[in-house]
Amino acid sequence: MQKLYLGVDLGGTNIAAGVVDGEGNIICKKSVRTNLPKPEAQLEKDIFDLCCALCEENGYDMKKDIVSVGIGTPGSVDGKRGIVWQNVNFGYTNWTLKENLGKYFEIPVHIENDANTAIVAEVVAGSAKGCNDALIVTLGTGIGGGAYVGGEIYAGHNSAGLEVGHVVIEVNGRQCNCGRKGCFERYASASALTRDTKAAMEANPDSALWKFTTDLEKVNAKTAFDAYKAGDAVATELVNRYIKYLSAGIVNLINIFQPEVLCLGGGVSNEKEFLLDLIKPYFDAEDYARNAAERTKITIAKFRNDAGIIGAAMLGVNNA
Ligand SMILES: [Zn+2]
Repeated sequence: MQKLYLGVDLGGTNIAAGVVDGEGNIICKKSVRTNLPKPEAQLEKDIFDLCCALCEENGYDMKKDIVSVGIGTPGSVDGKRGIVWQNVNFGYTNWTLKENLGKYFEIPVHIENDANTAIVAEVVAGSAKGCNDALIVTLGTGIGGGAYVGGEIYAGHNSAGLEVGHVVIEVNGRQCNCGRKGCFERYASASALTRDTKAAMEANPDSALWKFTTDLEKVNAKTAFDAYKAGDAVATELVNRYIKYLSAGIVNLINIFQPEVLCLGGGVSNEKEFLLDLIKPYFDAEDYARNAAERTKITIAKFRNDAGIIGAAMLGVNNA
């Protein structure tokens, strides 16, 4: 019989749980509202109740049919010790999540930061399957990062490493809410591209960008790419500048890690091959190992909308 794993994506808005097979396929899933603020103990019970309801509704006996349960959560997480040092969204510090959940679950519990679960999913069953050294960079509201180094999650000695969105790529550049100026995510996140697109539209009322939406509120990271593909000059400048900054950040990471695979996730990665083709000339010109026989492969992350559930579940495969 195939092995099955429970994965829980613990978000500020929803708690989503799924039963996942060893290849990263979701068999069934269920979610509830997180309803913050609430005490830690209540949230722990909610996680357990959700997993019980999911198993019961789909005919699984958790103890017999499920190998382990993994929880992916935002914040600084020490996965080995099972402690969430800090979760700003939830307002918790020194949260002994693994130990506390162990009082409910009769199967092994694994916890990790959600960016780390994303790289685990890609390494176990996704675009970096089987790699010992791989990175993921997610281009969303901010820029998140996860690293797998020498066959293990790399998170730094205090679990706060791989904040790749907050490396400076423009000294004295745009103010970031982390306190620095010129951070990678102020230029290369989906939100940054969206903000820049809106500003360009306001400054250029004749641009073809307006053909893709007349409502500035509906502008997203796709808008600039759509107008670029249609040959609009303003969009071409926007996308070229975006790719210049994105490539600088990506090549910085490759020059540090030289991973086997670097996966791009998040909203902007929906541009897939088109995006990869735009990055390639920068990568070929600037990668320090550009003349090496073995080079990093830049690719698109396999897991999309349910990556949080799948990655959390795959913690059980990774720790097996
Ligand atoms: Zn920053």
